[in-house]
Amino acid sequence: MAIATVNPATGETLETFEAHDGAETERRIAEAAEAFHTLRSTTFGQRAEWMHATADILEADVDRAAAMITLEMGKPIAQSRAEVLKCAKNIRFYADNAESFLAAEQLADPTSVAASEAGTVWQPLGVVLAVMPWNYPLWQVIRFAAPALMAGNTGLLKHASNVPQSALFLDELFEKGGFPTGSFRTLLIGSREVAAVIEDRRVKAVTLTGSEPAGRSVASTAGQQIKKAVLELGGSDPFIVMPSADLEAAAATAVKARISNNGQSCIAGKRFIVHADVYDDFVRHFVGKMNALKVGDPMDESTDVGPLATESGRDEVAELVDDAVLKGAEVLAGGSAPDRPGFYYTPTVLAGLTDDMRIVLEEVFGPVASVYKVADREEAARVANQTTFGLSSAVWSTDEDEQDWFVSHLDAGAVFVNGMTVSYPELPFGGVKDSGYGRELAAAGIREFCNLKTVWKA
Ligand code: NAP
Repeated sequence: MAIATVNPATGETLETFEAHDGAETERRIAEAAEAFHTLRSTTFGQRAEWMHATADILEADVDRAAAMITLEMGKPIAQSRAEVLKCAKNIRFYADNAESFLAAEQLADPTSVAASEAGTVWQPLGVVLAVMPWNYPLWQVIRFAAPALMAGNTGLLKHASNVPQSALFLDELFEKGGFPTGSFRTLLIGSREVAAVIEDRRVKAVTLTGSEPAGRSVASTAGQQIKKAVLELGGSDPFIVMPSADLEAAAATAVKARISNNGQSCIAGKRFIVHADVYDDFVRHFVGKMNALKVGDPMDESTDVGPLATESGRDEVAELVDDAVLKGAEVLAGGSAPDRPGFYYTPTVLAGLTDDMRIVLEEVFGPVASVYKVADREEAARVANQTTFGLSSAVWSTDEDEQDWFVSHLDAGAVFVNGMTVSYPELPFGGVKDSGYGRELAAAGIREFCNLKTVWKA
């Protein structure tokens, strides 16, 4: 894939970028390896100071950075601004908490292991490669980079080929905040060059956020090399509505959950599983609100849904909808791409889904919702768990027993009750099944790329 900025709102190629050749890639890996020797000897206090300076830069630059995001991948501008500020918040969170998350622990009774002192320390691994997607071009990277650098690791970034300006923005960001040169380096390379970087002896671990095929490829290379990998892959999250729910609030949140980021979020509610007693009412509210959304220029503050990020992404969404319709699905809203330049798709609601339709099992990465009618909580959980994914889930019910039942019966990395899934720096984030393994954010996220070293003293 060419490394280029293509404005998804118009389809126009704005700028193409020369990929780094072997020599430049080597130079950048060497720089990151060298920087690790410096960074591992700095204190948490020093790194926190650089992190806060980095957050200051992001906050001061919020409008320019947000415009860059929207230009490269089509997210409504208000959401781009929120993304930039969330990055700054996450950077400050790790600046303030890394030291306590990685505090050494001592056995209360070291004599039980015949020692005078025994316990554990967390230490950085070295250079970590991050392979990242375009859907949150800054946030996906920062949520890896902030904990990794605070732990004393250095980072290499292979970003998605359609967000090179974001990739280069990140290349400079941490150095501008004061981190030693090479602490975080972008590699402008294609996906075919990734395996060689993972195989490089100086690279100690890899994290990938992206699709299942990319995850399989990166994880198998890492496995061959016996290197740690974290995978944050796709999702087809259920959003369950039970009879006791506040239906209007559930429908309003359901729309937000489905169309946020133009429908291209891994943790978006994608399958709306509704109890038969409230199905008609919920669907009426939901379809009404989906039809009322304003689709248009993502630079316009009043736009609810902008274009999809790429032409191929838009075409994949259209294929999944067409397949379902051909096999008998009912279109309650939308159902096609509007006749306009750019990679738009009209917010869509499908019902009457059957197991032979691809959309039942596959992730749809665009503003397309499927609604399912179920008889009871057991059927709701069965439908929720029938995909190969297990990223997050949402349940709407005011019955506490029912809430707890779903918490224990949904196969997912998270359950959000009477809300929609959102990532917070304070809460671990990650999936089970084909949604991947490992966790980002919170204490778990910073520990993923550390060596838990046991220390025993006679
Ligand atoms: P993608 O095609 O897998 O791309 C993601 C990154 O992986 C890009 O940098 C891409 O580079 C690279 N890549 C692709 N194939 C590769 C391979 N075989 N080996 C090494 N690197 C490879 O994903 P996408 O379709 O752009 O992004 C959307 C997907 O990401 C969705 O499935 C979504 O659910 C998932 N996602 C998950 C999370 C999460 O936290 N779980 C968050 C956001 C998105 P190129 O661009 O050069 O191909």
